[in-house]
Amino acid sequence: MGVLRKSGEPYITHPYSVAYLLASMGMDHECIIAGLLHDTVEDTTTTLDEISAIFGNKVAQLVDGVTKLTHLNIGKEEKQAHAFKKLITFAADDIRVIFIKLLDRLHNMMTLESMREDKQKRISDETLRFYAPLAHRMGIYWLKEELEALSFFYLMPENWRSIDNFLTQKYKDPNAVLHQLKEKVLDSVTLNSPRVSNKIHKIYGRIKSFYSIYRKTAKKNHSYSSLHDIIGIRVVIDSENIDDCYLVMAAIHSFPEFTVMNERFKDYISMPKPNGYMSIHTGVRYKGYFMEIQIRTIGMHRIAEEGNASHWAYKEDADQKDKTIQWLQSVLSDVTESGGVLGFMKDIETALPLEKISIFTPRGDLITLPEGATVLDFAYAIHGDLGNTCLGATVNGKLVPIYYKLKNKDEVEIDASKRQVPRSDWLNFVVTQKAKNYIRRYLKKREKSIYIAKAKEKLKPLFETVNRANDFERIEELEGFRHIADLYSLPKKEGSRSFF
Ligand code: MN
Repeated sequence: MGVLRKSGEPYITHPYSVAYLLASMGMDHECIIAGLLHDTVEDTTTTLDEISAIFGNKVAQLVDGVTKLTHLNIGKEEKQAHAFKKLITFAADDIRVIFIKLLDRLHNMMTLESMREDKQKRISDETLRFYAPLAHRMGIYWLKEELEALSFFYLMPENWRSIDNFLTQKYKDPNAVLHQLKEKVLDSVTLNSPRVSNKIHKIYGRIKSFYSIYRKTAKKNHSYSSLHDIIGIRVVIDSENIDDCYLVMAAIHSFPEFTVMNERFKDYISMPKPNGYMSIHTGVRYKGYFMEIQIRTIGMHRIAEEGNASHWAYKEDADQKDKTIQWLQSVLSDVTESGGVLGFMKDIETALPLEKISIFTPRGDLITLPEGATVLDFAYAIHGDLGNTCLGATVNGKLVPIYYKLKNKDEVEIDASKRQVPRSDWLNFVVTQKAKNYIRRYLKKREKSIYIAKAKEKLKPLFETVNRANDFERIEELEGFRHIADLYSLPKKEGSRSFF
């Protein structure tokens, strides 16, 4: 009671905010209570037993999960990796721990201002590297954007200011511009398709997030003004009839005051993204402004905003829950197989696939892979042996090498040879865990056989000196040999230290 946060606010504002955010996401009551109590065991004399007695065992378990994670958020890469691994372990038990942790992080980011600068940077870096991708992978896009926006502000204040300057120069009052453009879009629908304009649920307007602007321009070294999607207008229709989306599109396209930018048109309704995302995207110019317009129904909107999260938060979608837990568990088992801390760090980043692509086999079967997947990833996705012996592939009728990056809807036929073997440089370009695991497993096995051969080479003369050459021939059958060989063939490189 009466305790203050660094920001000067009463401490209770923190757990209260976390609980409030959980509630607004539609999480269940146990999760909300655990959100309120998430720091009690850590910061007060309250025990888990007391929580369990008053609120039940489930709530106590959730609080316990979050508490155990708290200690691990320490800057060093190794510790971060460890914390993340823990997070995933808890999540496999109860996914709600991740929600509480993510919203705890969001509120801490929102109140980061009162922290010392080095702490701000450290926490923001961790947020950008782990928590934002995690939110993205969980399908909670608004949270991902929020975490990115706040991290960007603290990590790159100069870039942040330069984008801010650009926007104020270009739009003077961005809110007034958004308002005007939303009105125009509404006018176009009212004029050309009055019946559908009655079904418009809401028109949203937004400025692209600073972090997205930064990322899009920094990567290709483009200027901010080259972006044509800084202004986004979203038309959400209260109708589950997709024809209404097309009518809105037609109304916008035929509005005399708009110039349509054909190259920006994308129809994700007739061709949904593999993650279920649906919308029509189009770009129009009005006076000096470019805007990207997205047209979707309320149902599509919810999937777009909350993705997978909407499944398990709103309905008790056991199937989806299982899938997420399966994913977490697969990351977990991959992690224990991967080599070393840095390897793990890299893995965890690639284990959070952002976009997915669908690839056809010659038979017409569909295989889903993360964006950036190569021919080799595809081969391993079909079968481990096929990956190990992969030489290259024919993609849409063209011969390509194993490191060729696949694109959505490619048709791929793998070319394999029994004489091919995995090489360590393959690890540099594959992106899927399955591929990495197979390659590492093979390399480890080969490494081991090399160690064994070397050891035998050294031992043989010793056996011969004592006239026991015959015994040497059967050394591998001796009890315990395998075990000793295992011990001595463990690679001793720094990077392969086990840390769990
Ligand atoms: Mn907290």
